[in-house]
Amino acid sequence: MQIKQIDFSKYSSIKVGSTQNVLVVEDGDEIPKDHFIIGGANNLLVSPTPPPLMMLGKSFDYMKIADNYLEVGCATKTGRLLSFAKKNNIANLEFIAKLPGTIGGMLAMNAGVKSYEIFNQIIEIEINGNWVKKENIEYGYRFAKLNGIATKVRLRLEFGYSDELKDELIKLRANQPKEPSAGSAFKNPPGDYAGRLIEAVGLKGYQKGGMAWSNIHSNFLVNLGNGTFDEAIELINLAKDRVYNEFGITLQEEIKIV
Ligand SMILES: Cc1cc2nc3c(=O)[nH]c(=O)nc-3n(C[C@H](O)[C@H](O)[C@H](O)COP(=O)(O)OP(=O)(O)OC[C@H]3O[C@@H](n4cnc5c(N)ncnc54)[C@H](O)[C@@H]3O)c2cc1C
Repeated sequence: MQIKQIDFSKYSSIKVGSTQNVLVVEDGDEIPKDHFIIGGANNLLVSPTPPPLMMLGKSFDYMKIADNYLEVGCATKTGRLLSFAKKNNIANLEFIAKLPGTIGGMLAMNAGVKSYEIFNQIIEIEINGNWVKKENIEYGYRFAKLNGIATKVRLRLEFGYSDELKDELIKLRANQPKEPSAGSAFKNPPGDYAGRLIEAVGLKGYQKGGMAWSNIHSNFLVNLGNGTFDEAIELINLAKDRVYNEFGITLQEEIKIV
């Protein structure tokens, strides 16, 4: 298997991390059990000492239309899938516009916007080489228990792509900060918003070294330049402590700390 050197201070969306060897797994390879899988690193905070890492290679970067489903390799990027959906007039994938990542990352996070999320569209996922039906996978708001590595997915094939819906959903997310981030740092607790809570405890715009809680959207941890892993962790812990002390709510990370 090929090994790729990845500099996470460039590769990850939050631009934090060091250079690490990442094992590239191709179709037909045996999937190692002791490696952490990464996708596009749009939801990751990579420490200076992560566990062994792996990623899916080019053989998992494809899309094909079958009789009654759309099959997608899990290394495929969301932007590529969206263009394919538009070209082939496929409906219900408009929400992935400007949602950065690979399909594997989307499945593991059950990524989405409002009520639009990837699990709505799933028929079955190939996990560690076996097709598993959606009914047999536990999933919910921003999580899915895949119990392994997703390599391929079959999505419902419905027609009627809508540019209007795509534009509407992009508009909903227009308040996201422009600085490097890993998306929302915390999940919204039931009936509340993590951003509101972070703001309520006085951390909106709060900076530690190169990292800060955004002053545009408080639940975004942003890198203002040369931010480090330790600074990010300090801000995450500070927000958790303050929100717990003031509201008795335990914030749960959406961001994956590796
Ligand atoms: C600016 C910005 C805006 C964002 N907005 C949103 C939003 O509106 N909604 C939303 O839901 N998310 C949002 N995100 C988060 C991110 O886009 C999604 O979580 C995306 O699905 C991550 O995909 P990735 O390939 O980068 O995964 P990574 O960040 O690399 O990994 C995320 C998780 O998926 C797991 N994983 C990756 N590939 C596989 C695989 N093949 N099999 C099993 N597990 C796997 C990893 O182990 C990790 O636990 C945003 C991020 C950014 C930077």
